[in-house]
Amino acid sequence: MSELPSARGEIAGLAGYHSPQVEVEVRLNTNESPVPPPAGFLGALADAVPTLGLNRYPDRAATGLRSALAHRYSIDPAQVFCGNGSNEVLQSVLLAYGGAGRTAAVFEPTYALHSQIARATGTRVVAGRRGDDFLLSADVVRSLVESERPDVVFLCSPNNPTGTIDTPDLIPVVLELLGEYGGLLVVDEAYGQFAATSAVDLIAEDRALVVSRTFSKTWALAGLRLGYLMGPSWCLSELDKVVLPYHLDAIKQAAGVLALGYAPEMEERVAALVAERERVTAALQELPVEVWPSSANFVLFRPGDRAASEVWQGLLERSILVRDCSSWDGLAGCLRVTIGTEEEDDRFLVALREVLREGTPEDGI
Ligand SMILES: *Cc1c(COP(=O)(O)O)cnc(C)c1O
Repeated sequence: MSELPSARGEIAGLAGYHSPQVEVEVRLNTNESPVPPPAGFLGALADAVPTLGLNRYPDRAATGLRSALAHRYSIDPAQVFCGNGSNEVLQSVLLAYGGAGRTAAVFEPTYALHSQIARATGTRVVAGRRGDDFLLSADVVRSLVESERPDVVFLCSPNNPTGTIDTPDLIPVVLELLGEYGGLLVVDEAYGQFAATSAVDLIAEDRALVVSRTFSKTWALAGLRLGYLMGPSWCLSELDKVVLPYHLDAIKQAAGVLALGYAPEMEERVAALVAERERVTAALQELPVEVWPSSANFVLFRPGDRAASEVWQGLLERSILVRDCSSWDGLAGCLRVTIGTEEEDDRFLVALREVLREGTPEDGI
């Protein structure tokens, strides 16, 4: 019998990233926008497609898209890098600044893909721990950075899946620590537009800070797969070397530029989701669950005396899908619900009340 090839050690040991894609009526598990992009945008995109010259390779430098994003954030086009979703952006960062012999730091519990992508690129991962209520203290970061000297440090603010944001004074502290030996700070702001604070204003040529954002969540374009990174040009020009040629297709580039023309509509939607998030949070606070205040478009909660998997299953039986985070490190018993439309959120809340009541029939609530 012949030997079968095996994947590299760190790949064989990876579990892969799974988020069940189940057919349900109310899908509140992957932090997507509950509503489609603006109709005007879709019409403009349909009109644009025939003009794109699809027989030719796309603009390799994505000049128009980079310029449009640079304009929106008042930075230089050379300070913008785009990828097929912000996950690909983060992978590019790790291909260039991580890799064999290098180290990336994360602070758990956080977005699982940071360590997953790091490992897939051969980067060693070291983890610190968030404190009470999942807040990240400068002391925790300092002790990990000083002992491990990671080449790349990931912060995630608002943090997925906890919804917490870092205090604004954290970033200057981390940058100073990294400046001692030349480490790079990556702030994942996939949910940045839902929060009151951002690291974007700190971007400068003399700071080793990059900030990633995406069209997936706020721009209601998860299906488009478009993310971007903002940071100093000397850093982003290294990333251009690790992406495949023509990695951003012409339709995506055009769609990104067009979407930026609908900023007021997007901002209205973000404001509505933030209001809805506060309503859902308040409603959860009335139930026998622990709930953490969120700055994103989802809320993490822990059913008090019911197993998370039972509650998840009970919701699924009512055709409502949330994310079961209970097996994630540091999140025992926790579920995460994406903010949907008012109607979807009401269905979720009614179903959750029912499911929680089933477990304690004697209460009669
Ligand atoms: C959803 C998410 C992303 C990935 O978004 P894509 O742009 O769709 O790849 C990145 N970071 C965090 C924290 C997320 O939750």
